[in-house]
Amino acid sequence: MLRLFSTFILFAGLVFADGFDFTLIKKGSTDDNNTLLVVGGIQGDEPGGFMAASILSTHYKITKGSVWIVPNFNFYSIIKRNRGPYGDMNRKFANLPTNDHDFHSIDRMKKIIQKDNIKMVINLHDGSGFYRKKYVDKNHRPSKWGQASIIDQAVVEGIKYGNLEEIANKVDEHINKHLLKKEHVFHTKNTKTHLKKTYEEKEMSKTLTYYAIGKGKAAFGNESSKALPVHERVYYKLLALEKFMDVMGIEYTREFDLTAKELKNVIDNDIFISFNDKKIYIPLSRVRSRIAYFPVERGAKISFKPSSPVMTVLEEKGKYVVYYGNRKLTTLVPQYFEYDDFDGRLDVVVDGKMQKVAMGSLVEVKKYFNVKKDKRFRINVIGYVNRKHKNESGLNIRKKYTIKRFSVDKDGKRYRVEVYDNKTKNRFLGMFLVEFK
Ligand SMILES: [Zn+2]
Repeated sequence: MLRLFSTFILFAGLVFADGFDFTLIKKGSTDDNNTLLVVGGIQGDEPGGFMAASILSTHYKITKGSVWIVPNFNFYSIIKRNRGPYGDMNRKFANLPTNDHDFHSIDRMKKIIQKDNIKMVINLHDGSGFYRKKYVDKNHRPSKWGQASIIDQAVVEGIKYGNLEEIANKVDEHINKHLLKKEHVFHTKNTKTHLKKTYEEKEMSKTLTYYAIGKGKAAFGNESSKALPVHERVYYKLLALEKFMDVMGIEYTREFDLTAKELKNVIDNDIFISFNDKKIYIPLSRVRSRIAYFPVERGAKISFKPSSPVMTVLEEKGKYVVYYGNRKLTTLVPQYFEYDDFDGRLDVVVDGKMQKVAMGSLVEVKKYFNVKKDKRFRINVIGYVNRKHKNESGLNIRKKYTIKRFSVDKDGKRYRVEVYDNKTKNRFLGMFLVEFK
């Protein structure tokens, strides 16, 4: 069912001089008064939450109603794989001094929550162990958080979807019909936050959901267990989100079958990044951990578009590191070039058939390809065995003529074909990839 490398919304590069701002993605109808707000990544060491929000933003289409998604609320903590480098953001919604590092993020989130159209707020978390109403054992007991719908109170009078407990029960019921294992069963945990007596009740009064309730919005936490692999946490979160949308009358389509196996494939393999207005496109599925001689424009800031809102590129010690949630995918070791604008196409014979190939494409090759000679261009196939050629156009290039360690991927299938301007000697015009099938 999955169409790999289909075109999604691409997110502009998110690096800011003084840190990371979060992304607000608005999906569905633009004039809707019944919007679901989904928040992921409030704590960077809970990948189930931010990966689920990310997949919702990239692989779902909202066909009726509207959903707003913040997949990377504490983006810096996601990259750092840390609960909160400047303290736990989910304890900053009651009172916060203006000089707190997270003040602007919290303030911006509060304003979003307060918007009239927002009627329900879901805060996505990964929790420890398995929540049970009664003590079973160390990992299955009332003080655990995993596999639970979280509410601050059973009912909030006078607001839309104020029957929190009923709704949470419906969500649990839906999830429990699709369990991968019996142990994963969902229950509703009511933190009775308004009592503000116990330590936990007091702590909960500083959270995003309790703030939202105070502003007249139905709000829920959703916790999947940290004992599960990330794709299984995401699986349960998407089941929950689909039920919440259903409760609100929001309709959607998605690009994959909601099974744990397909989700793992979406998360690991349906990822890519492009640079400099698509001059360069790199699939990130099984990408090599280091890519050398990566052509970066001299004297310019690197510009990129990741396929996921929890993906970014950071400059570290003169290299460019591609992060995807908690994962470090690859390090690009730059080689600096002058760039030149080029939006033409190259004539390339692929397995005997002529193709017009644009920069930033991925060309599938069964046996060989041959970039037609053109005196305007110098072609450099990275990893081509015969290094005597200054210009590798006009050659039938087969997989057996390539050196595996130069491939973009770990499997030795994808190779870079770089295009330089002959007249200006060495200006970089762009690249495409060939993938040997
Ligand atoms: Zn959490």
